Amino acid sequence: MNVGRRQALKIVGQGAAGAVGLTAAASSAESAGQNRPIADDRDAVAMLYDATICTGCQACVTACSEANELVPDTVLSGGRWQMPLDLNANTKNIIKLAKNDDASQYSYVKRQCMHCLEPGCVSGCPFGALMKRASDGVITWEASRCIGCRYCEVSCPFNVPKFEWANFNPRIVKCEFCAHRLEEGQEPACTDVCPTHAVVFGRRADLLAEAKSRIEETPGKYYEDRVYGEKDGGGTQVLYLSALPFSFLGLPELGEESVAHYGSKVHSILYKWLALPFALYVLLAALIKWRWDKHEEHTREESSKTGIPRQI
Ligand code: SF4
Ligand code: SF4
Ligand code: SF4
Repeated sequence: MNVGRRQALKIVGQGAAGAVGLTAAASSAESAGQNRPIADDRDAVAMLYDATICTGCQACVTACSEANELVPDTVLSGGRWQMPLDLNANTKNIIKLAKNDDASQYSYVKRQCMHCLEPGCVSGCPFGALMKRASDGVITWEASRCIGCRYCEVSCPFNVPKFEWANFNPRIVKCEFCAHRLEEGQEPACTDVCPTHAVVFGRRADLLAEAKSRIEETPGKYYEDRVYGEKDGGGTQVLYLSALPFSFLGLPELGEESVAHYGSKVHSILYKWLALPFALYVLLAALIKWRWDKHEEHTREESSKTGIPRQI
C-alpha cells in the first residue's frame, strides 16, 4: 500500500513519540490500549455531513464557539465578526469553501476532529493525554496529563489538534464531540443548530446506513457512491457525502489502514532496534567498571607490597 510523504511524516512522528523515554513508553502502551475499537460499534456516536445540502451559513461555527466557550476568531474581519481561515486555537469547527480557479465547481466542507476509530493522536501521545472513550468512541483531551510536546499534532492524519501558542498555560484544542453536552443527554451544538440538517448526529452504524440509503435513492448524485470515513484512515466517526471528489474538499486520501496501525509497526521496529544499542551500552559500561575495579585492585596490591602510598 502506498504511504504518501505527509503520511510518512505522521508515522515517523508516532515512532518518535514512542521513543520518548521509559515513562513515556509505559504511557504509550497505555495509550495503545485505549486505541482498541470500542466494544460495540453501535455505541459509537457519529455525525454525517452531506456537503450537497450545506448552505455555508456558518451557524454551526458560531454554535460550536458558544458551546465550547471559545473566543471567536475575528482577526480576518478586523474584530467585526467571526471569520476563521482554518481550525486554530480558537476554532474547533470550520466551514470552508472549496472551489476551482474559475469557481465553476465549488462546495462547502465542514472540518473538525474526525474521531477516528483508531486515532493517531491517541497512540502518538506519549503521556495518554488524549483518550478514546470506551463508551462512545469520542476522543477527549486531559489537561493534567499533557506536557505540550505536540506529538498529537504530528500524529493526526487530518491536521486537527491545535496548540494554544498565545496562552501562558497552553492547551491542545480540538473538537471533543461536545462531550459535556453528550453527558447531559444533548446532541453536539453544531448538529443541533444546522438549519438544513446538512450535519446530523446519531450512532455510527445508523448514520452509515442513512448515508448508503441516500446514495441508493439518488444514483449518480454522490461522488463514487462512497461514504468518506467508512473505511478511510481505518474509519472515522465523522462521515461525509459529497458530489465532488473528497480530495477537492481537502479531505486527505488515506488508505484503509490507520496511521495508528502503521505507527505501532514503527514503534515495534524502533523498540527492537533501540534495544540493541541500549544492550551494547550496558555491556560497555559493565566492561569499563570491571576494568576499573581490576585496576584499583592491582594498585592496592602494588601499594601494600612496596609501602608507597597510592597516587590518586
Ligand atoms: S482526526 Fe486527528 S485529532 Fe481527531 S481523532 Fe483522528 S487523529 Fe485524533
Ligand atoms: S461536536 Fe461540538 S466541538 Fe465538535 S465541531 Fe460540533 S459543536 Fe464543535
Ligand atoms: S449550520 Fe449546517 S448548513 Fe449551515 S454551515 Fe453548518 S453544516 Fe452548513
